[in-house]
Amino acid sequence: MGPAIHEPVKKTQRVKELAEERVRLLVDHAIKEQSPERADRQARVAREIAMHFRLRLPYEIRQLYCKKCKQIIVPGRNSRIRMGRSNTKAVRITCLKCGHVYRKILSAQ
Ligand SMILES: [Zn+2]
Repeated sequence: MGPAIHEPVKKTQRVKELAEERVRLLVDHAIKEQSPERADRQARVAREIAMHFRLRLPYEIRQLYCKKCKQIIVPGRNSRIRMGRSNTKAVRITCLKCGHVYRKILSAQ
């Protein structure tokens, strides 16, 4: 239970935290990016970092990627959003890159 045993674990944890921070920044930039090419590139790099470090990304980041073509979907730019029936708290998002449609469950208030 000494620090010698815990040290490598902590270091890995720190590296992962930094990697996740970088992923968040890249995704954030990609969403705000005006150029679709640059947005795609930033989103791709973010995904590569996440896979490299085997990060378990939070839902708000994972849901930005199309489950089919794995490209980033920015609402209002390359996705089409349709509200479901009023009693279902879900929207249907269409990826305009590959046409894949998926449902996003809106968080209950
Ligand atoms: Zn897609």
